[in-house]
Amino acid sequence: MKGLFRGLATTLSTAFRRPVTVQFPEVKHELPVRQRSFPVLTWDFDHDEPFCTGCMVCVRNCPVECMTAVMQDNPKYALGQSNRRKGIEKFWIDYGRCIRCNICVEVCNFEAIVMDNTWGGHAHSAFDRRDLHKDLDDLTKASREGRLPRPFRPVDDFDAAVAKLEGKEIPEAGMKGARPEARQAQIERLAAGQGAAIQEREPEPGALKAAAAAAGGGAEEELAGLSEKKLRARRMRAEKEARDLAIAEGRDPEAAAAEARKAFEASVSAGGTPRAATASAPAAAGAKGDPNSPSKLRARRMRAEREAREKAVAEGRDPEAAVAEARAAFEASLGGSPAAAPGAAAAAPAAADGDAPSEKKLRAKRMREEREAREKAIAEGADPEAAVAEVRARWGVQ
Ligand code: SF4
Ligand code: SF4
Repeated sequence: MKGLFRGLATTLSTAFRRPVTVQFPEVKHELPVRQRSFPVLTWDFDHDEPFCTGCMVCVRNCPVECMTAVMQDNPKYALGQSNRRKGIEKFWIDYGRCIRCNICVEVCNFEAIVMDNTWGGHAHSAFDRRDLHKDLDDLTKASREGRLPRPFRPVDDFDAAVAKLEGKEIPEAGMKGARPEARQAQIERLAAGQGAAIQEREPEPGALKAAAAAAGGGAEEELAGLSEKKLRARRMRAEKEARDLAIAEGRDPEAAAAEARKAFEASVSAGGTPRAATASAPAAAGAKGDPNSPSKLRARRMRAEREAREKAVAEGRDPEAAVAEARAAFEASLGGSPAAAPGAAAAAPAAADGDAPSEKKLRAKRMREEREAREKAIAEGADPEAAVAEVRARWGVQ
């Protein structure tokens, strides 16, 4: 009887107790600051960029190798808007493999990665595992959007506990640029039209022009900040691209390269660096790296001849006639005669001493083709001698 009343009392007391459960997901318990969902990257609101420098320490220490990072030179450094010389270009974490061990957070020297301690960090269900590959944008989103109001930093916790024990004032928490105050300051800067990042130092010379060009300010402005060496490299790249494109489209590659050079020099002059433009002239006359140096002209002519020969052989035409044609076309593209082009005169003797394949080489090539034709005919059950005769006829040999 006594036990019956005791049971009844327990039932009645629990019946009127406030429930300990909540209507998840409409209602959520507050999570402790130390709780871990998945790692996310923190955003530095002072400099409007991630804290991460792409140093790869976390990547190397991840026990399941679910992280990848790519470092880059930080463009904001030259602009004086950041003190990080290096920044992160790409970052991936595969949440499907992450075991939430917190090691990446512990080894990071830059407070760039924290465990998401909000409910948002838990909501990653997906139908496809590939959707659990998080990139830089996904990983910085929580911090950027202010959804990480209390990014947890173990050392802050430790310092606070020690200060409390010693009866001292609790020190200010670290990770300052990522905290809500920093975000608020950024919002105020933007409202005042000052830009998202604080200005750390004076921009480096030329950096503003290069940045303006990168942002679509125009090629001239970009070129204006470059050294002579870089200008030359750019001109050569432009010429090479024009030449490759012309070859692909069946146009005259040398005319295309000349056009590209003219356009480049015009844009250099428009950018206010005529000195750099003239300085590149001697290079065009034969210095190291000049695309019209004798050796390069010779190499280009040989390539054109080889391609013509191969094409003629494939089409069953006379390879030697095709080579002669290609050579004539090449010389014509240089201005009608070898002497008309810079360095072409030097290239001319080279043609006599071994550019064109020697008789011996041509014979070896013909014999190889004969052998291949014979083997192919045998494999296909055709007459090998007829196949060989066909090759010989193509080469003009009886
Ligand atoms: S929490 Fe652990 S497993 Fe997950 S990314 Fe960091 S180091 Fe790798
Ligand atoms: S998160 Fe930290 S440890 Fe990892 S690459 Fe970025 S800076 Fe280095």
